[in-house]
Amino acid sequence: MDQRFDVIVIGGGHAGCEAAAASARLGAKTALITHKFESIGVMSCNPAIGGLGKGHLVREIDALDGLMGRIIDQSGIQFRMLNRRKGPAVRGPRAQADRKLYRQAMQAEISAIENLTIIEGEAADFDLDGNRFKSVTMADGSIVEAGAVVLTTGTFLGGLIYIGDRKIPAGRLGEKPSNSLSTTLKRVGFSLGRLKTGTPARLDGRTIKWDELDSQPADDEPVPFSFLTEEIKVPQIACHITHTNSKCHKIIEDNIGRSAMYSGQIDGIGPRYCPSIEDKIVRFKDREKHQIFLEPEGLNDHTVYPNGISTSLPEDVQDAFIREIHGLEDVRILQPGYAIEYDYIDPRELKRTLETKKVSGLFLAGQINGTTGYEEAGAQGLIAGLNAAAMLSGLDPFVLSRTEGYIGVLVDDLISRGVSEPYRMFTSRAEFRLSLRADNADQRLTPLGIRFGCVSSERQQSFEKKFSQLDDLIARAKEIELTPSEALKKGFALNQDGVRRSVFTLLSYPTVQLSDVVKEWPEFGVYSSDMLEQLETEAKYSVYLDRQKADASVIKRDEKLKLPDDLDYGEINGLSNELTEKLNISKPETLGHASRIDGMTPAALSLILAYIRKNMKAA
Ligand code: FAD
Repeated sequence: MDQRFDVIVIGGGHAGCEAAAASARLGAKTALITHKFESIGVMSCNPAIGGLGKGHLVREIDALDGLMGRIIDQSGIQFRMLNRRKGPAVRGPRAQADRKLYRQAMQAEISAIENLTIIEGEAADFDLDGNRFKSVTMADGSIVEAGAVVLTTGTFLGGLIYIGDRKIPAGRLGEKPSNSLSTTLKRVGFSLGRLKTGTPARLDGRTIKWDELDSQPADDEPVPFSFLTEEIKVPQIACHITHTNSKCHKIIEDNIGRSAMYSGQIDGIGPRYCPSIEDKIVRFKDREKHQIFLEPEGLNDHTVYPNGISTSLPEDVQDAFIREIHGLEDVRILQPGYAIEYDYIDPRELKRTLETKKVSGLFLAGQINGTTGYEEAGAQGLIAGLNAAAMLSGLDPFVLSRTEGYIGVLVDDLISRGVSEPYRMFTSRAEFRLSLRADNADQRLTPLGIRFGCVSSERQQSFEKKFSQLDDLIARAKEIELTPSEALKKGFALNQDGVRRSVFTLLSYPTVQLSDVVKEWPEFGVYSSDMLEQLETEAKYSVYLDRQKADASVIKRDEKLKLPDDLDYGEINGLSNELTEKLNISKPETLGHASRIDGMTPAALSLILAYIRKNMKAA
C-alpha cells in the first residue's frame, strides 16, 4: 500500500537517525526508510564517539536536542577528556562505546519518537515532479510519497569492499550496497565521485596477552556528552596499548603490491587523517613503530578493535603482520580488515540548508557529502532534518554561521570549498575556536533551538535554570571590585596601577585560581563546582576573545593582499607539511584565496601574512 509523509529520511545510520529525529521534533510526519531496523545505530568502524573537534560537534548536536550525546552517555565504556591539560577550547570529549549498548539505546530512542514511522526495506529510486521531489520507490515496488526527502546512505552508494585482490560489492561487510540510487542520482544530473575508507581486522580478546601490555584507564570522573546527563552509570574499562615493529613493517613492505590500495585497484581518495597501516609504512618510512590502541568493543564482548592498523592487505598478510605485534603473537582474527570505495556527491551542489540546488525538497547528509565520521554525519543529519521539516511548514531555514558553531564551520567548508578527500572535523578548522568551546555549546545554541522550536521542554527548563544561575554568578563576580593594594592584602599580586578590578577580571589572570577566589569570598562556595568552572572559563577566555576578534579583522583587512607566484611556502616556519604542499601546488593569488584552501587555518594565515610583511614586498 502506498503511503504519504511530510518528510522521508533514507538510511538509519548516524546522519539518518539525527535527521529523522530532528524532522519529527519539529512536528513533521516523518518516515525513516532503512534496510534493517536492527542496523539502526550501527557503528561501521571505530566504536567511539567524539575526539578533537568531533566532540564539539556532539555537544552542539546535543545542545539542539539531537540524540548522539545522550546515546553515548548510555553506552560509553571509556570516557576520556582529550587535551585535558590544554585550554578548554581545544579539549575534546571522547568515549569508547559498547557497540551493542549504543545500537540498542539508539533503536529504543528512535522507536519512541512520536511522528516517526520506520519502514524496513531498500529505497531503490525516486521520482520528481519537474525539479521537485515527489516520491520514493522501494525495491518491492511500493511508493512512499512526501514533500521532502533526506538522503543519508553513507558508504552504501556503489559500495565496493576490497580485501587484497578480492572485491565484494557491499555497503559494509555483510550488507548489500545501494546501487540503484546511484543510477537515479546520475539520471537526475548529479556527478558522483569516488572516495574510500578502511577498517582494521577485529581480534579475539581472549587470545591477547593483556598482562604484557600498558593499559590506559578511563578518566576517574567521566564527563558526560549531553548537557542533560547528570552521571555516567555504565561501568568503565581500560584500553591497552601496543606498537608495530620492524618485523611487521617488513611483512607489509614485502607485500605492498598485494594491498588493494597499492595495486592500483582503488581510485577513490582515502582519509588523510586516518591512514591505513600501508599508508603509514610508505609515507613515514623512518618511523620505527606506530602506536595501536586495543579497544574492547563491549563489556560482554570478546571482540577487540585494534585502532591504528586499518588495511586492505589480503587476509594471510594481515594474519602474518598482526602476529608480529607484541601481545598479539597468538591472536585469532575474527574479521579481516578491509577498504571500501563508495560514491559521493560534490557538496558544492548544496545550499546552506543541505538541500540540493538542483532538486527542490532533496536534502543530502552524512558520508554521501564527502565527510567521514559519525559526528560529522550526525551534525549534517540534524541540519538537513530540521530544514526539510521547516521548508514544509513555511519556517525560515535553520542555518548556523562559522561564528556560531562547529556545525556552521562544517557546512560552510563543505558547500563552499567542496572536498578533495574525506572531510573530518578538527578544532583548527574553526577560526573562532576560542568562543566555540565544547563546554559552552548549550550557551551558544540552545537559545537558537528554543526559538526554532526543536528543543524539548525538559531541556529548555534545565537550560534556563542553569543560565539564570550562571548569569547571577557572573554578575556577582563583576560586582565585587578591589584596588591593587586590597588585592595584594588578599595575596593576589597585581600591577600596582591604582586601577580597580573585579573578581571576574582577577579570575582572567593565569596566576589566579578558582580555589583562591572561593577561599577569599566564601559566598561563591554555594555554587556547584561545574558552575564555578564555567565562571573561570568565561573569565579566562574573555581576554582571548577580544584578541581573536582583532586577529579576524586584520585577516579580513588583508584579504586582497597579493601573494607572489614564486613564493616557496616551505620557507615559512610553522606551516604544516600538508598546507605547504597544498599552497605550493595551488599558488593562491591573494591571502583571501589562500584562506579558502581546504584545511587552511587562521593561525597559518597569520604566519603567511607575517612572512610576507617581513621578507618581501608583495607583488
Ligand atoms: P552510515 O552510518 O553508513 O549509514 C547508512 C545507512 O543507510 C545504513 O543504515 C544503511 O543500511 C542505510 N541505507 C543505505 N542505502 C539505503 C537504501 N537505498 N535504502 C535503505 N537504507 C539504506 N569514519 C571515521 O571517522 N574514521 C574511519 O576510519 C572510518 N572508517 C570506516 C571504515 C569503514 C569500512 C566504513 C564502512 C566506514 C568508516 N567510517 C570511518 C565512516 C563512518 O562509519 C561513517 O562516516 C558514518 O557511519 C557515516 O554515517 P552515515 O549516517 O552517513 O552513514
